[in-house]
Amino acid sequence: MKRTEISTLGEFGLIDRIAEKNTLRQASTLKSIGDDAAVIDNSDCMTVVSTDLLMEGIHFDLAYTPLRHLGYKAVVVNVSDIYAMNAVPKQITVSIGISNRISVEAIDELYEGIFQACKFYNVDLVGGDTTSSMSGLVISVTAIGQAAAEKLVYRNGASVGDIICVTGDLGAAYLGLQILIREKQIWQQHPDIQPELGESTYLIEKILKPEARKDMIELFANAGLRPTSMMDISDGLASELHHICKQSGVGVYIEEAQVPIHADAKMTAINFGLDPITCALSGGEDYELLFTVSPSDLEKVRYMPDIYIIGEITDKADGIKLHTEGGKIHPITAQGWVHF
Ligand code: ADP
Ligand code: MG
Repeated sequence: MKRTEISTLGEFGLIDRIAEKNTLRQASTLKSIGDDAAVIDNSDCMTVVSTDLLMEGIHFDLAYTPLRHLGYKAVVVNVSDIYAMNAVPKQITVSIGISNRISVEAIDELYEGIFQACKFYNVDLVGGDTTSSMSGLVISVTAIGQAAAEKLVYRNGASVGDIICVTGDLGAAYLGLQILIREKQIWQQHPDIQPELGESTYLIEKILKPEARKDMIELFANAGLRPTSMMDISDGLASELHHICKQSGVGVYIEEAQVPIHADAKMTAINFGLDPITCALSGGEDYELLFTVSPSDLEKVRYMPDIYIIGEITDKADGIKLHTEGGKIHPITAQGWVHF
């Protein structure tokens, strides 16, 4: 029997391989594997479904992740995928695998965060599953949302000339994580030294307690704006641009100077010897929205709060390019782009 390492395919290659072998049988399955969420046609409205799995040691480290924040974030990352379809989340299910290190009080704390997020995002917890785990704490959340068919926004709707926008700012979560990792290392070597997190509140909140952009979906609805394509930024802007371009069959031209990066993120990147734009492109876990709008909607987005125009959709043949502040043009790789 041939044995191929997963690393030869990578996460997206593996998902593509599963998707190729997947047979759809239901006419109501409107969108299957490949977008932020699946879409099920209930004739009167569309049901949108998304799942995420969080594993201790891979997605979070309990040494610096309060369980309340973890519960909150587990919900946020899922409702974020529903908003990324321009839909409204309604219900969630939560499944947990519990290691013997976890107490009842710890589970109480985790669910405090889950319930807090349910309240903020106006969703109901309607079920789940509980099992023991041999590999640390595991949390899987499924979010179910709704939208009218004509409101849904996919990754494949961008066309040449569309304007590319992002919400909020990018790279902060990644830099918050770097601070937490550094403080954990210092603490492991010198348990008597108190962590110095005071001046990094914004970055640390971005990694431990991100919010999904519910406000943006409401803003679009009120302004009568329907993006042509959209996704949330979970893996980093560079990777997400590749998804939009691949699925829409287009290229992209990004202005480095227009990519929003928080002042604290810039300063921290430099302190770590990192390039701020590389953190913004490759950092991930921002849970901001990346979307495109038709040029005729430029006036609508131009004055919307917390939305930044970062570039334009180009022909597929033009590739995925970054126009640097130094005036050079570089291809953006899926892993991000590194200054030479
Ligand atoms: P996101 O970062 O938005 O959560 P992912 O990159 O995890 O999205 O997933 C991309 C697409 O692949 C989604 O449609 C998701 O449902 C699907 N997918 C991911 N893993 C699997 C799997 N093991 N089996 C089937 N579909 C999967
Ligand atoms: Mg997503």
